[in-house]
Amino acid sequence: MKLTIGHLYPDLFNLYGDSGNVQCMKKRLEWRGIEAQVLPLCAGEDIDFGELDIVVWGGGADRGQALAREYLEQIGPDFKNYVEDGGVVLAVCGAFQLLGKYYKTGEGAEDIIKGLGILDIYTERCDERLVGNVVLESALVETPVVGFENHAGRTIIGDVTPFGKVLYGRGNTGDGGYEGVVYKNVIGTYLHGPLLPKNPQVCDWFLERALKNRYGEDAVLTELSDEAELLANRNMVERLGSEKRFQDSDCADGMSGRKKLSEVCR
Ligand code: GLN
Repeated sequence: MKLTIGHLYPDLFNLYGDSGNVQCMKKRLEWRGIEAQVLPLCAGEDIDFGELDIVVWGGGADRGQALAREYLEQIGPDFKNYVEDGGVVLAVCGAFQLLGKYYKTGEGAEDIIKGLGILDIYTERCDERLVGNVVLESALVETPVVGFENHAGRTIIGDVTPFGKVLYGRGNTGDGGYEGVVYKNVIGTYLHGPLLPKNPQVCDWFLERALKNRYGEDAVLTELSDEAELLANRNMVERLGSEKRFQDSDCADGMSGRKKLSEVCR
């Protein structure tokens, strides 16, 4: 068996080592005897989404996002079809924002960067950056999801499910109580860097879906021991838990995400 991972715009979107997530997917496939091909898809290249099993799109600064404008127009319809047909996507931070309707930077004459409109979300920039460790409870996996966020954008989500409930950290809007989104086989998240090495079950969520898309429902991922990874995950959760800055689990508004941005930006 073989899966192809498309690494979207590594030339414009690769903050904080987000591309390590591609390596993690590749390695976890190879450990199971599944061949993994990685295709770097640079800005301006023609992309054949039909040959891709997984798309990984890393975080990018406002500048990279603005530069991506013209390329997004080029790939928009094919990318949307890929997602609607169940294509697997991990989109981090700046990429997560651009899967939505728009990102409003609030700077310059062209302060709105139009997104692909694939996700029912929109993002606006606030002065305060949300930076720090995050712990989520996600219905997709058994273990808590640990990660690191660094964003000025606040993302309001509509008819999509959040990736997780924020137990520690800030999340989509800073205080709405939820982080990221899940739509079909897409996860959009603000969690940067080694998201998948830190959360091997999240990595396998993507791999399993991609494998079934390509080889049918009977295709299964064999178990890996993940002893070290799960120990590291637990260690992080306990370390942050002992700082006692976990959010109240009772969040009034996060699920609907209907808070006005004027309430969110302070
Ligand atoms: N420019 C966006 C923000 O700060 C995304 C940056 C990023 O990917 N870290 O909200």
